[in-house]
Amino acid sequence: MDKLKEHYTNLVKKYREIFVSVLSAMQGEINKLSHDEIKNYLENEVVKHIQFQRNLVLEKRKQFNCKKCGACCRLAISEFSPAALLEKASKGDKFAKEFISTFSPVSEDDAKSQFGLYVDLINESGEKVFYYNCKKVTEDNLCSDYENRPSICRDYPDNPVQMLHPTCAYIGWHESIQTIVLTIKAMSEIREHFMKEWKAGKI
Ligand code: SF4
Ligand code: SF4
Repeated sequence: MDKLKEHYTNLVKKYREIFVSVLSAMQGEINKLSHDEIKNYLENEVVKHIQFQRNLVLEKRKQFNCKKCGACCRLAISEFSPAALLEKASKGDKFAKEFISTFSPVSEDDAKSQFGLYVDLINESGEKVFYYNCKKVTEDNLCSDYENRPSICRDYPDNPVQMLHPTCAYIGWHESIQTIVLTIKAMSEIREHFMKEWKAGKI
């Protein structure tokens, strides 16, 4: 677990460095602009840049291929409880609808008995999650309904920050995009801050 703590400490340190550098660059740009130009910069140029980086993140995922370990089908995680997912689905949330029609809830003890290391890593990270599994995965780790699998399975993993199973082939993807993801996060937070300043007439 010490390794995980070290990983998070380094991540926080790296994020601080990126944040300071992005803040300095954006402040520099803003200093050169008039009040109206700042709005255009924040709403167009910065948003386009963030979108470009998001596309890059997804593009880089194509360099990796699932090695069919079956772990993500045997144990999926969600920040939402079964009740919360049902409620979201009843309001038309497509992701929630697909998720509850694919996965069934499992207890943390059951999850731990099969994927102890993964559950320990999640607990250690402080993330609060609920555990689920899919009954359609076969003994040889394949999908028994492959042609009809929902888009949440087709697109998995599309979240660049969700904790992946230690056996997942996309861990390399997460590692390769770390700097880009932290830059996107910093730009988004700083953009939001400057938008508030702009609306308050401070810049
Ligand atoms: S539907 Fe298929 S691909 Fe999706 S979680 Fe179940 S077994 Fe895996
Ligand atoms: S955990 Fe990763 S490598 Fe394993 S089946 Fe899922 S996507 Fe593929």
